[in-house]
Parts: sequence; structure tokens; C-alpha cells
Amino acid sequence: MARVGDWIRRFLDKPGSVDLTPYQRVVAEAGRLEDEVARRDELVPASVPPEWVGSAEFCAVVREAARRALGQRPFDVQLVGVLGLLDGTVVQMATGEGKTLVGAMAAAGFALRGARVHAVSVNDYLARRDAEWMGPLYETLGLTAGWIAELSTPEERREAYAKDITYAAVSELGFDVLRDRMRVDAAELVVPPPDVALVDEADSVLVDEARVPLVLAGAADPGVALPEMAALVRRLSKGYHYTIDEEGRSVFLTPKGTDTVEKALGVLLYEHPGIVTQVNLALHAQALLIRDVDYIVRDGRVHLINTSRGRVAMLQRWPDGLQAAVEAKERLPASETGEILDSLTIQSLIRRYPRVCGMTGTAVAVADQLREFYDLRVAVIPPNRPCARADEPDRVYPTAEAKRQALLEEISAQHATGRPILVGTLDIAESEQLDEALRARGLRPVVLNAKNDAEEAAIIARAGERGVITVSTQMAGRGTDIRLGGGVPEQEAEVAALGGLYIIGTGRHESSRLDDQLRGRAGRQGDPGGSVFLVSGEDPLLTAYAPEEALPPAGAGGLVRDPRAAELIAHAQRVAEGVNLEIHRNTWRYTRLIERQRTELLERRDRILRGDAGAEALRAACPERDRELRAAFGDEKVDRAARQIVLFHIDRCWTEHLGFLADLREGIHLRALGRLNPLDEFNREAVPAYRDMLDEIERRSKESFEKADLTRDLDDQGLKRPTATWTYLVQDNPFGSDWDRILKRVAGALKRGRSGRIGGR
Ligand code: ADP
Repeated sequence: MARVGDWIRRFLDKPGSVDLTPYQRVVAEAGRLEDEVARRDELVPASVPPEWVGSAEFCAVVREAARRALGQRPFDVQLVGVLGLLDGTVVQMATGEGKTLVGAMAAAGFALRGARVHAVSVNDYLARRDAEWMGPLYETLGLTAGWIAELSTPEERREAYAKDITYAAVSELGFDVLRDRMRVDAAELVVPPPDVALVDEADSVLVDEARVPLVLAGAADPGVALPEMAALVRRLSKGYHYTIDEEGRSVFLTPKGTDTVEKALGVLLYEHPGIVTQVNLALHAQALLIRDVDYIVRDGRVHLINTSRGRVAMLQRWPDGLQAAVEAKERLPASETGEILDSLTIQSLIRRYPRVCGMTGTAVAVADQLREFYDLRVAVIPPNRPCARADEPDRVYPTAEAKRQALLEEISAQHATGRPILVGTLDIAESEQLDEALRARGLRPVVLNAKNDAEEAAIIARAGERGVITVSTQMAGRGTDIRLGGGVPEQEAEVAALGGLYIIGTGRHESSRLDDQLRGRAGRQGDPGGSVFLVSGEDPLLTAYAPEEALPPAGAGGLVRDPRAAELIAHAQRVAEGVNLEIHRNTWRYTRLIERQRTELLERRDRILRGDAGAEALRAACPERDRELRAAFGDEKVDRAARQIVLFHIDRCWTEHLGFLADLREGIHLRALGRLNPLDEFNREAVPAYRDMLDEIERRSKESFEKADLTRDLDDQGLKRPTATWTYLVQDNPFGSDWDRILKRVAGALKRGRSGRIGGR
């Protein structure tokens, strides 16, 4: 009977997810070996055949190692997760199921097979915490682990990479790769060749942040000063001088606005595309980027908010002029800008690894994307204890104000019972307003938004205590699970009797995954708990993604009870998810070509860096000069100079090529007006440009070689590399894909027929 049930469930459940039956069989077998393995002195056999990893004996061994090292006996489902990871899948396991331990056991398995594992974290705090927490487990298995954080020195990084398992935030891994790619001495390289990437919060890293470019910049050039422009647009008013589209992604000058701007600047806009760009940036910064929602100002600087994590996105900037425009809006000095020496998207960074696996609480909803972009499959691991959380249907109100009142009432009512409450807000501004409103009612909520990660983990750890109200922005990567009673056994039963942790979402997110991540904070390991989302017809999700549909009217108690409301919300979410997927696809179509060129060039560069390919090429190209130099300075010095010359020109030309491609991509949409496919057009130009670049590298290298004076430093002979480089992440263009905007611009131009409209940049 039970088998038939399983069989049916497999077909009814998430289509396309990995069949767990073979893993479950291995784990059952491991259970039978448990006692025998527990009596062993040496857990790991002297020599490990690759197929041993993943066997029942292996499972029994890592379980015993965890018991000895951490005092925790891994549950069967955790071992099933380990086998899934070892098979290169993304395993979905709920919050509190112990993914840290699962990841560590799998990392150990890969390492025992002789692989080098990069455990990819979402931030420095978690990288270090997990490496230290799991250290004893690795030691018991005869393995080593290290971690990297933003402040790690090159020496510390090299040491950490030399361990069997290296924990690091995805940005640090990428920055190391970018910095390495500029080195002129092979002995200075930091990152070993990629092998296995085991990605924590896999959906967040592999999907939500996939398009984020990691950037290495250098050679500062002065940023454009935009204060005057900011002052000008500050005087414009919405509705009169400019309008904003329903999705809040584009802003357009009205004819009146155009007149005002033209008078103030004393120019005709359509004659000055450069000024149009500046006005446009200033207007976007002024009207579309909202302080305390999209960014905060702290220590005299603009810090971006990562919308999927609801926290300050350290080291992130907006692309191009937008950052400077926001700084001007806030009357801050422009921060450093520089030339982009090289950049790499997170997706490309992860795709360098021949083997990738990952874990997250919410993988199924992005299963198609994981397959499309990484060829990864999803394994849904059942919880150790069945989930007992009561998820209520959404409570839907006609207006934002009605929702706000209901929210305050609900929090007060639940709090009166002593039940701990976690309120998830959509942005920081909302969390602060809620904090104020609750305080006005005499409540003392704990607000969690842009704090540092360690403090954050401590606050979250206490969120399950009796009477605690925690108000937090998005929960992905918050790092700690919430124990009822805060881990104090007597309190645990008491809080459980109150119904456990109660989650209130103040609105549905653009992605159902984010909703699930919030809900998932309650009901860990079979704990009691509950969740509910409050939604209003004025929520941005509905106004942006289902603007044409009306919410059914409210009934008794001000609640909209019509089931069509739920359909509408689900519809808006699907539209939002679809838009995001299309943007992802579109970006990837362009980056893929650039990535291919980059990889090919870097392979050449590597051969030059590690050998004498540069010297050989120059000898073949300039035999006479080569003979002359070798006679005068000896082979070693000439080889070194040749390497320096060729590497310099490779790097320089690549930087220029990247700039060219960026301009090409910006401009390519204009050709869409001529009914050419922009992607084809892009490829048609990018491919010969790459070939030209290779020729140019050769030409410049020969010229330098002919002219070089080897008695002097080559740096002073036009081969100076940027003295200072820095790294940052570029936040997604907050206004959506160029493509979207072009379509809108074209539609707008047809309707309007005047240059009153300035399209998105
Ligand atoms: P997740 O990341 O899946 O939400 P964590 O890795 O943070 O979960 O683990 C949640 C808690 O469960 C941690 O305190 C961890 O020590 C504990 N834990 C994990 N596995 C076990 C186990 N097999 N037995 C007992 N406790 C465990």
C-alpha cells in the first residue's frame, strides 16, 4: 500500500524532479551498517575508490563522523540530500532541515574523491561561520577547510584555496577570478582551476543574481558632475512636467517638461543627445529611485538595497551614470568611477565549474531556469518531520490603508497571546513605518533590515521567543533558523502551545519563492506554526502586473472574499516571474557571446602567462629585433619583456573591446527599428570586432617590441597598468531590459510624434 502511495506521489508531485528511490535504498542500507561503523577507529578507508563515495558505507561513515565531531546524527533525509548533491543536483530542503550539515557531508564526499570544492555562500559572515562550524567534521574525515572574506589578504586567500574545501561568498570568488586575470606573473595567481561548486541558497545565486556583473575597474577618470542637472529636475513636478509608467520603470518628460528643461538649459534637446542622456539619468534618479526603498544614504554614501534580500548590497553600484545621478540627487560628492577592465556575470562565474550542485529551500519554482541556464536538475527532499505549519489563504483588502489597519490589529491581537510574530515587509521604508506604528501602540518590535550579518543572525535566533515581534525585510540567506523559545527547552513547549511562530507577510512578493522563503521560517522540524499574507488592491504587484484587472469588491469586515482575488494575485505573480525570466534570457543571449570570446582570449593569455608563447610569437614576427635584443640582454630578460608586452596589450585591447561591445549593445536597438534582429546584428559586428582585436594585439605588441628600451622600466614606455584597481557588483538595471524600453519608446513615439519623450537609458 505504502509503495503504491509513493508511486502515485512521485507522479503527482513536482514534475521533472529527480527520483529519490535509489538514494533512499542506499540510505536504508547505511542504517544497517551504522553500528558496525560506529565501532571503527578509522572511519575512512586508507584508499578511497571514487565509487565508494555515495555508497551505503560512505553514508554510514559521514553520519558517524558528524556524530563524533558535532554531536549530531544526520537524519536519513539529510543523507538523501547528500547523495543528491553528489549527483550534481540542486536539492530542495526546507528551512531548519540542516542544509549546512548536508552541504558539508557532500563537500567531504567530493573532496574524498579528490576534488577541490568551493562552497559558495551568500555572504562573508556565512562563509566563515559554516567553515568554522563544520571544521571538526572535516577534520574527523581527514580533510581541511578554509574561508575567504572581503578583507582576506592574497596570502590568506591562497591558503584558503589550498584547502580541500573553501567557503566564500560568490562575489569574493568572482573578484579573485577577475583580479587573477590581470596578473603578469604566474606565481601571483590566487585561484586554482575551478572544479566543484556547491552553492548555498542556489536559487538566489543561480537565478536571482545570475545576471549581476562582477566588475574589475581601474584607472580613475573624473566622473561627470551632475549637480546642476539634479537641481533642475528637482524643480520638475510629476504629472505636469513628467509622467511615470504603471510599472514604475520609465519616466517621460511631457511636452511642458521638455519646454522647461530646454529653457533652463538654453538648448533644444533633440539636437543634443548627450544632454538628453544626462537629463534622463537625473530624472530617473529623481523620480524612480526612492530613498529607503531602492537605496539608503549612510556615512555620506549611497548604498543600494538588494531587493531580493532586503538588505544593503555591499559593494554594489548602478550601471554607468545612474550611480552618479543618484549621488547628485542626494547632494553627495560623486564616488569613484573608473574604466571597466573586465567583468564577469555570476552566471558565467558558476558555469566555469565543471561540476555544480546546490541547495535551497525553494528550487522547484525555478527548476526550468536551473535546467535552461545550468543544465541542473532539482531533487525535492522530504522534511525529516512532516510540516505542521498552518498556511492561511491571503487576506485581501481593497486599499493599502485598510490593509495597514488590519495588519496592526492582527499583530496586536496575536501578540496579546504571547505568540512570537515575524512580520516580513517588502522594503525597508515599510519596515520602519510599521515599527513606528507599533511603537505608537506601545509595542516593542525588533526591526531587522540593513544591519550587519552577524547581528542579524543573533536577532533571528531570538525571533521564536515568547512575546517577541520581529519585523524584517526579505529572508533569503538570513542564515539562522528560528527555534521556538529561542532554544530554551522549557520555553519551547510553552511557545508551541501558543501555536508556534506566526508569520505575517505584509504583501506578496514578485516571486512566489520569496513568499515561500518567508513562510518557511515557521514550522521547522515539524514545529507548530502559522502564516498569512495581507494583500491590497493597491499593492505594487497588482498595479504593475495586473493593472487592467479590477479586484472584486470587499464584503463583510472589509475583506475581499471572492476567489477571483487569489487568481488575480497568482496571475500578477506569474506575469512578474515571466518578465524576469525574459529579461534573464535576453541578457544571457548577449553575455553568452561575450563570454565565449573572453574564455578564448583568456586561454591564450594563460599560455603566455605560464610559458614562452609571447616570446615565441614575437620572435617569429620580428626575428631581427629578437636576435638583436637577445644578443644584448640575454634570453631571460627578453622572454620576460616579451611576456609583459603581450599581456599588456591583451588586457588593454580586451578592455577596449568590452567598451566597444557595451556601446554596440546600447545602440543595437536602434537597428531594431530597421526591422533587423538586434541579436543577429550584435553578433554580426561583435565577431569581426573580436578578430580585429586579435590583430590589434599583434600589431601593438610588435610595435612595442620594436621600440622597447630594455634598459629602462617598460611601465614608463606606454605599458603602465592601472595603479589602483577595485571591484564591485553592478546592480541590475532597475528599469528593466533595454528591449522593453525600446518597445515602449517606439510605441510612444508613434503615439506622440514629438521629441517630448525621453526613453529609458
Ligand atoms: P537550514 O540551513 O537548512 O535552515 P541549518 O543548517 O541552519 O538549517 O540547521 C538548522 C539547525 O539544525 C542547526 O542548529 C543545526 O545544528 C541543526 N541540525 C542540523 N542537522 C541536525 C541533526 N541531524 N540533528 C540535530 N540537529 C541538527
